[in-house]
Amino acid sequence: MNLILLGPPGAGKGTQAKILEGKFGFKQLSTGDMLRAAIAAGTETGLKAKAIMDRGDLVSDDVVIGIVSDRLDQPDVKKGAVFDGFPRTPAQAEALDKLLASKGQKLNAVIEMKVDDEALIERIAGRFTCAKCGQGYHDKFAPPNTAGVCDVCGSTEFVRRPDDNAKTVRDRLQVYNKQTAPLVDYYRAKGNLHVVDGMAEIAQVTKAIASLVEAAKG
Ligand code: ADP
Ligand code: AMP
Repeated sequence: MNLILLGPPGAGKGTQAKILEGKFGFKQLSTGDMLRAAIAAGTETGLKAKAIMDRGDLVSDDVVIGIVSDRLDQPDVKKGAVFDGFPRTPAQAEALDKLLASKGQKLNAVIEMKVDDEALIERIAGRFTCAKCGQGYHDKFAPPNTAGVCDVCGSTEFVRRPDDNAKTVRDRLQVYNKQTAPLVDYYRAKGNLHVVDGMAEIAQVTKAIASLVEAAKG
């Protein structure tokens, strides 16, 4: 089962992808996380990607498609993946179709998460993650149970993304509207687009996605 969570930055894709991993056993495949890992590891790809990501532009299709292709060769994604932040351009969407077909797999569902721009900005402004295990939080909407302590691993170190600032967020929303939003029509035309209200509370969004996943499983 392969699923795409499609939506603007801050829509809740990463939050839901992590929950779906626990619930259904899909592997979360976040190109943003992979690129940040490349930056942290100081690889050539990471060095090139950093400046592009800091200003909120898209990393080139070739680089991103290469990363996803390598990742899909690993055994832990054989049972399926939940794509989070990929594809982001028509060229990436076409490449994903081909990659999955070459592995005898297909895309089961694309779930568009709709969230208003003002809410996206508020979500991104308050986003932080555990530095040790990567669990995501929000100052207002999803704080840790004990302030300053990660619910999952107990770490007391947290990080905020350098691109989660007011200026870059607006640029990233524009990039989304221009380069990624056309994918909604691409997948609608293929007949596998589903829409969920991403403005709802996290648990409600999970419920809506889970019932679509159950239906797609048949
Ligand atoms: P994306 O992966 O789409 O960029 P995230 O999953 O990182 O978005 O969510 C952005 C921020 O909003 C995080 O801090 C997260 O805790 C919070 N968040 C996610 N879903 C919701 C929701 N349904 N309601 C309120 N806050 C949310
Ligand atoms: P994200 O973690 O999904 O918010 O992505 C953070 C940044 O990584 C984006 O603003 C882009 O610069 C880059 N990025 C992540 N995924 C992709 C992708 N599929 N295509 C191009 N750039 C990407």
